[in-house]
Parts: sequence; structure tokens; C-alpha cells
Amino acid sequence: MSSASATFPDVVLIGGGVMSATFAALLKELSPELSITMFETLEQCGQESSKAWNNAGTGHAGNCELNYTPRRPDGSVDISKALAVNTEFDISRQLWSHWVRSGRIADANSFIHACPHVSLVWGKEDVAFLKARYDAMASHHCFDGMEYSEDPDVIADWAPLAMEGRDPSVPVAATRIRSGTDVDFGALTCSLFSSLEKENGFHSFYRHRVTDLVKTTDGRWRVTAVNTQTGVKRSVLTRFVFVGAGGAALPLLQKSGIPEARRYAGFPVSGLWLQCTDPAITQRHHAKVYGKAPVGSPPMSVPHLDTRVIDRKSCLLFGPYAGFSTKFLKTGSRMDYFRSLNGGNIIPAVTAAKDNLSLVNYLVREVTQSDHKRFRSLLNFYPLANENQWTKIVAGQRVQIIKPDNGLHGVLRFGTELVRSSDQSLAAVLGASPGASIAASVALQVVEKCFPQNVTANGWLPRLKEIFPAYGVDLKTTPELCRNLRQETARILQIEN
Ligand SMILES: Cc1cc2nc3c(=O)[nH]c(=O)nc-3n(C[C@H](O)[C@H](O)[C@H](O)COP(=O)(O)OP(=O)(O)OC[C@H]3O[C@@H](n4cnc5c(N)ncnc54)[C@H](O)[C@@H]3O)c2cc1C
Repeated sequence: MSSASATFPDVVLIGGGVMSATFAALLKELSPELSITMFETLEQCGQESSKAWNNAGTGHAGNCELNYTPRRPDGSVDISKALAVNTEFDISRQLWSHWVRSGRIADANSFIHACPHVSLVWGKEDVAFLKARYDAMASHHCFDGMEYSEDPDVIADWAPLAMEGRDPSVPVAATRIRSGTDVDFGALTCSLFSSLEKENGFHSFYRHRVTDLVKTTDGRWRVTAVNTQTGVKRSVLTRFVFVGAGGAALPLLQKSGIPEARRYAGFPVSGLWLQCTDPAITQRHHAKVYGKAPVGSPPMSVPHLDTRVIDRKSCLLFGPYAGFSTKFLKTGSRMDYFRSLNGGNIIPAVTAAKDNLSLVNYLVREVTQSDHKRFRSLLNFYPLANENQWTKIVAGQRVQIIKPDNGLHGVLRFGTELVRSSDQSLAAVLGASPGASIAASVALQVVEKCFPQNVTANGWLPRLKEIFPAYGVDLKTTPELCRNLRQETARILQIEN
């Protein structure tokens, strides 16, 4: 290892999850000579939210998530958010395809699998909503191939477990997009880091927790990490810091002292899954079946019954059951939330909590409910489920963003957000959903916003156009390119078109 490039790297990554992995691998594609140093508290990469068991593995493309398509006051359905997520996923598909073609990822099957995305609702009102949603989406080329049915036999063909034993007197409806995906973001993260670790100028320090982040007088960042086993400190100086620390990104942003971070607060949400690995059951379900969030519950608690393919084995996950915890990471501390409050964000945090008391109550209720009660909500999706075949597992921790509106009033936001310092020397990713699915889009934004001097015709632009064949094109308004691109990326990633 060249100690100079490890101590004075061009770029420092804080955290070894899918966001850092994607950003670093994209940077190395654009400029192989860049030196990059990564610090990760844990002993391996991809162990927090990016780990397969900690998230739902949905390749979010706006196909089935009903919270992305709210009803307008006039009854029509707004599909703009679903379209945005849908085409952001195309950016991931292009980048992953490039990596499979170039050999950075040895085998697409190691992390992505075809898995139909189904939305399932029951009851007259929700059936009417799903039909209106289908009418708004099916005519758009981005949702080509979307199917709709109110026929129980057809839906039973799409998702047999969801229909067996269901009360025939209650109307049901479903949509299906066969080209949906299940993604193992943990496997993707590890495969990217393992390729990066073989490259010149890339240094990873596991079991190293970043404890300090200080701007020096010459405009660089001094990043200090402590070896969690020996206590030995290591400091590096860099011109650019990427904070890909998942739920812990907020405290690190606060540590950086950049004014852009001052008013942000975080709202931690814990999660639980029910898991079934019995092949007799798992072989009978091949879909991600999303429902509607119960009235009064937050969008992140939208339940779904998912096929997962992890370590090349199929299983079923149901959930997540959201709950309240004050930790910012699964491996974090119960003090995380309290330590993140300060003079700049306490008012937004309190006002957001006050406005969302029903949400807080909901989360507390969820976390305290009995396992049996929890199991009963699975029966809405799988009426004949047998409680003995399902095991409870703990999901990853999410930290939703609280951001002030124009005044001091805090607003809870459910997206994924990139925060940058005004001099573009630091970028951090906050929030969760759509999260990992849009890691490529996040990485691209960081490149464009923080390295504009390199994104030129004589610099990185030609390479960006090679990596992303639709670079700079809005796929929402270019049906032919969109269809061709999807056909090609589906072929390379071995998923349905
Ligand atoms: C229950 C749940 C379901 C989800 N479902 C989906 C889904 O279906 N589809 C989807 O696309 N996304 C989903 N997400 C979101 C997705 O998992 C995250 O957006 C994504 O994994 C975040 O990646 P990351 O790299 O930012 O963070 P992480 O994967 O959490 O990685 C952050 C890393 O930073 C390290 N770190 C933190 N602080 C420090 C420090 N001070 N020093 C050094 N290292 C540090 C941590 O140890 C960790 O390894 C879900 C998330 C959850 C919790």
C-alpha cells in the first residue's frame, strides 16, 4: 500500500454500504488514478441497512409501491413520484449492466433476480383506487406490460398464497409487472468493494469508526478514525468526503459543522420481518406483493409479502413491521437520537414530532404488540399461513429526515436526500426509501454536482456516456430509447424485460 495515497487520498468514504461502494466504483471508472480511502466501523462491508436481511430487496421502480402514487383531491392518481423512481432505477440498471459487461461484477445472478411486482388490495374503496392508478400508469411507456385484474382466479395465478382461503365476498384487485426485480444489495456492496480493493489507490480500513471531521485552513478535510479494537487513531487529509454512513450520516454531518446540516434532524424507525424458509411454501410464491399502508400508518410501514433470493436460496419475508427505537444504526446506541438534537434542530424536531403524534403512537403500538398479533397481519396477505412456519427477524434501522420548511417548523420527509456543502467538498446521503435502488443516481448526482470541473467534453463526459447509454436523456419522454435500453439491460442482468 502506498502510505502517501492512504494518508492524503483524493476522496474519503465514511461507511462501507451500498452508497459508498457505488460512488467509489463509479469514480474509479471515471478516473482510475484517483486515490480513495474508506473507513468502516464494522469488520466487513454491507452489514448495516445494505445487508440483504436488513432491507426488503425491492428494486424500487415505482411498479407496486402504492405510497408513490397518492390520490389527488379530485380523485385522480398522481404518478409523478412513481415515474421519477422508475427512471432512477434505469440509471442503476445501466450502471450494473456496465459493471457486468466490464467484469467488475462477475455474475449478475449474484445480486439481482427477476421477481414480478404485484400490488394487491381488497375492499371496494381500495379496488377503485387501484383501478384509477392502473388507468393512470398503464398507458405510460415506463410501465409497459402492467396488468390489472379483479378476477380472483387470475390473481391466484399471480400470487397463489395470497388468494387461498380469502373471503370470496370481499372484492379484490391486483396489478402485476413481470419485469420487477429482487436485489441483494449486500452482495452487490461486497462484490463492488472486493473489486475496488484490488485496484491501485483504494484503501479500506475496517473496524475503524470515524470520530472527527474538521475543515483545515487550506480547505481540506481532516478525517480521524479510531481502530475499534486497538483504540489507535488514524487521520487522513482529503479534498473530498463522501458520508455514506446510513443512519449515522446525520451525526457525521453535524460534526462537519457545515451550515447546510444545521437544521436537519432525524426520526429513527426500527423494523421487524417475519421470515419463512420452508421450501414447500417458498416454492409457491414468486412475487413481491405490496399492499396499502393501514390507515394512520406511515408510508414506510406498507406491508409486503416478498420473495427474496439470498445466497442463491429463496425465502419469503413479510413486513416490515415498523417500530420506534432511538438508535440510528442497528448496531448503534440508544443515545443516538438524543445526541443528534441541538440548538439548530430541536425546534424542527419537536414540531415534526408534534405534527406526527399519531405516527409516534403508531410506532410505539407496533413495537409493543405481541408476536401473535403481528402474525395476524400476515393473514391479510396469506390467509392460510401457519404461525409455526414463520420466524421473527430484526430488520435494518431507518432514519427519516426532518427538515424545516421555510421557517423553523420541521417536516418529516420519507425520501432519500443528498446534502452537500456549499463548496462541494462534502456530500452526505440521508433518509431511506427508495434508498439502495437509487444508489447509482445518487452517485451520479455527486459526480455532477461536486466534480463539475471534470464533467466536460475533454474530461469525464465521454466515459459517462459510455457507462450510461441514456446519459442526460429523460426516459420519461423518450419511449423508444427507454424500451431499447430496458431490453438491453434486462438481457445483460438476466431479468425479465
Ligand atoms: C427495513 C428496511 C427496508 C428497506 N427496503 C429497501 C428496499 O426494498 N429497496 C431499497 O432500494 N432500499 C431499501 N431500504 C433502504 C436501503 O437499505 C438503504 O437506503 C441503503 O442500504 C443505505 O445504504 P448506505 O450505504 O447509505 O447505508 P448502510 O448500508 O447502512 O451503510 C452505512 C455504513 O456506514 C458505517 N458507519 C456508520 N457510521 C460510521 C462511522 N462513524 N465511521 C465508519 N463507518 C461508519 C456503518 O457501519 C455501515 O456499514 C430499506 C431499509 C430498511 C431499513
